[in-house]
Amino acid sequence: MSNNIVILGAGVSGLTTAYLLSQDPANKVTVLAKHMPGDYDIEYASPWAGANYMPVGKKGSPHQAWETATWAPLKELCEKNPDAGIHFQDTLIYNRKKDQGTAAGNWFAELVQPNPWYMNVVPDFKTLPQSELRSDMDNGQKFTSVCINTAIYLPWLIGQCVKNGAVFKREVFKHIADAANAHHTGQKADVVINCTGLSSKTLGGVLDDKLFPVRGQIVVVRNDPGEMVSVSGTDDGEDEVTYIMTRAAGGGTIIGGCCQENNSDPLPDPNLATRIMKRAIDICPKLVKPGQGIEGLDIIRHGVGLRPYRRGGPRIEKDEVDGVKIVHNYGHGGFGYQASFGCSEETVRLVKEVLQSKPRSKL
Ligand code: FAD
Repeated sequence: MSNNIVILGAGVSGLTTAYLLSQDPANKVTVLAKHMPGDYDIEYASPWAGANYMPVGKKGSPHQAWETATWAPLKELCEKNPDAGIHFQDTLIYNRKKDQGTAAGNWFAELVQPNPWYMNVVPDFKTLPQSELRSDMDNGQKFTSVCINTAIYLPWLIGQCVKNGAVFKREVFKHIADAANAHHTGQKADVVINCTGLSSKTLGGVLDDKLFPVRGQIVVVRNDPGEMVSVSGTDDGEDEVTYIMTRAAGGGTIIGGCCQENNSDPLPDPNLATRIMKRAIDICPKLVKPGQGIEGLDIIRHGVGLRPYRRGGPRIEKDEVDGVKIVHNYGHGGFGYQASFGCSEETVRLVKEVLQSKPRSKL
């Protein structure tokens, strides 16, 4: 017996869920979305992400479990599927205790603390000796992580799904239940998986007012420092951060950033861009030639994306709206890639529960 599955949304959450579900030939998967890989839009978070694996889940939380579960699949893609656009990078993390309690400090609290839980997950973890720390840093660590070229990885996921028989269509829905009538077979879907990110705030049948945007501004440059660097905070503002990551396969280096809550301005702020570039060179002088300042950065573009944060954490749960079985998988804030496999595996478990309870047709 086959299962008719509709996935609403083609960001990293929808595509990872489609990738996993389409591996079972019994699942007939239709992915429907307003935006698809290749689009750059303020309503579509996934293309703007760095994206790297910098665990931030609180120890003992489901978030920690999702990030832990995501490391092995990302590592395997790195090792076995270089065409997916993911590569290993040396990673340096610096902590300034004075950032504790700020918006940036709270976001990075688990990432920057000494002996974090993820020291047993990522390879080559090492605490930096005092001699390798600048005087304004209190502690630091080094490990191997990954950086994803989203412009390659998202289309790669689509390619895998299409090879498995999944069908992709552009469509915009005002109500989640309507998506059940848009399965490519013409039959009603057995289940709709909601991966609409921040749009679940306004999508009929969901209207989740726990969602809010956290604005992230980035500069993409051609310079390659050869390592990823993140710092717990800045002296420029409590919701500004510094991170540097180089995407695989010629994707350029992403320099960030900020974490501006409830700010949805899609236009890059030029003053913030200058601060972002200055801070990046300050913490990682290798970005430019000796003696150079921001004039040494070769800018590809400026960008802004909105992280789909949700009070209480992502929503991964079963629901029923107007008689349509739904499984939600949205609200992944600034960690949608690094938790993608963990969250999608949990979604798949819930989808299986829904499918097991569906009425069997009479023989
Ligand atoms: P989205 O990517 O927003 O996708 C939503 C999908 O739903 C789209 O296809 C959209 O068209 C569709 N949709 C919505 N409403 C409708 C509708 N009504 N009808 C039809 N389709 C609809 N995460 C990391 O793990 N590591 C990082 O390094 C990282 N860096 C980031 C840097 C920046 C600057 C930003 C902005 C984010 C970063 N993130 C990072 C977070 C990550 O990008 C998000 O968590 C993730 O992209 C969310 O993906 P999503 O699929 O849930 O939502």
